[in-house]
Amino acid sequence: MAALDPHLQEIYEVVLRRNPGEAEFHQAVLEVFESLGPVVRKRPEYVESRALERMCEPERQVIFRVPWIDDSGRIEINRGFRVEFSSVLGPFKGGLRFHPSVNLGIVKFLGFEQIFKNALTGMPIGGGKGGSDFDPKGRSNREVMAFCQSFMTELYRHIGEYTDVPAGDIGVGGREIGYLFGQYKRITNLYESGVLTGKGLGWGGSRVRKEATGYGLVFFAQEMLRARGDSFDGKRVVVSGSGNVAIYAVEMALQLGATVVACSDSSGYVVDEGGIDLELLKQVKEVDRGRLADYVVGRPGATLVTEGSIWDVVCDVALPCATQNELDEDAAISLVKHGASVVAEGANMPTTRAATRVLLDADVLFAPGKAANAGGVATSALEMQQNASRDSWTHEYTQDRLEGIMRGIHERCASSADEFGAPGNYVVGANTSSFVQLADAVLALGVI
Ligand code: NDP
Repeated sequence: MAALDPHLQEIYEVVLRRNPGEAEFHQAVLEVFESLGPVVRKRPEYVESRALERMCEPERQVIFRVPWIDDSGRIEINRGFRVEFSSVLGPFKGGLRFHPSVNLGIVKFLGFEQIFKNALTGMPIGGGKGGSDFDPKGRSNREVMAFCQSFMTELYRHIGEYTDVPAGDIGVGGREIGYLFGQYKRITNLYESGVLTGKGLGWGGSRVRKEATGYGLVFFAQEMLRARGDSFDGKRVVVSGSGNVAIYAVEMALQLGATVVACSDSSGYVVDEGGIDLELLKQVKEVDRGRLADYVVGRPGATLVTEGSIWDVVCDVALPCATQNELDEDAAISLVKHGASVVAEGANMPTTRAATRVLLDADVLFAPGKAANAGGVATSALEMQQNASRDSWTHEYTQDRLEGIMRGIHERCASSADEFGAPGNYVVGANTSSFVQLADAVLALGVI
């Protein structure tokens, strides 16, 4: 990787010193800083005003105990987090992740990414993220409810329609948002719909929110292909993960004429040369909350591979939609060798820095998650608009809005990449465009 601009290097070293042991947070900061050399040379006031240091320090970080009782009567203790990173553009906004790997460094990396992503949407939302090391997998509905109620019994003090608006992420879907919203409503005695997004359609949710991240990802990739005179039609697509983002990326890729030949979960990946059967996948993952092994049982011809990497499956378009750092340098080399022409991140930071370099050097079209997966949070902002106006929009209208937003993000990335001397580089485009917007707001609001 190219050396950082000396000013940025100095600031990065301070970030390392002040946040020891938070490898994913360091990685997320470095990925942004690597794009900012031309920006700080053109606008030295961003360094002089210490805008960058201010942006790397969360406004508020809350860590709390979450005690609850499991089905055997045992008391369980988890740890809850909410990192309110930046509210210069609007109330803190970002999901909650329930996964055993969650720690402060992971939540800070996600919160930091979220600031830039939310700025890219062009909507009035700040950035934050939260979650817990609780693992909902294998837990009964009652256990999940008990955990969510205890989690919200602390979280409610910190959130609100105008303060901080959480949503879902890994391990947090409609069921969990329901239990969280119910407890918030009970504690506060307010029907404050705009306090959480990702709600069910019957109680304040938005159409297309469930589909939005996956659909938006494919809309973004479609714009990239279109910029090269190409389309999804007839493409072979591989999608990692089989959760919310992955399933709806598969759905939209199919609608645009692609064949999706593989998807995964943490136990392995399925190859289905006949094309992934979307209805079966939804049944297994969304309805039965099962594993991909169950998909293979219902689909002769499909195979479950439990060793190696999903990125060894030959494809034109790769959509990593599982988790951070799942696509490493070897995987990138394999994708390039097999002729992949597009990699667009549905997950947050799924591609390592070394892998990103391999893809960019090979002229693969590469979309960073902060641009390509912003459709989820953008539709959350549309949900907030509907809540504020006590309105409910149609599927068609909401999907049109989402498509328009993704086109807008693509345009902003492409033109900012041109402006800062890296045409076609969506990493530079996404980082510079969002940074300038945020830094200008930081300066305008004074030292706060
Ligand atoms: P889900 O919990 O619905 O699905 C996650 C999927 O990824 C599952 O298939 C899961 O497999 C797999 N996975 C998770 N962790 C690992 C791991 N450590 N190793 C291998 N596989 C893993 O989450 P989402 O689909 O909501 O989120 C996926 C990614 O997209 C995350 O990075 C999230 O931050 C990002 N994102 C999500 C948005 C949203 O609207 N939901 C918005 C923007 C980004 P298994 O079931 O076996 O654990």
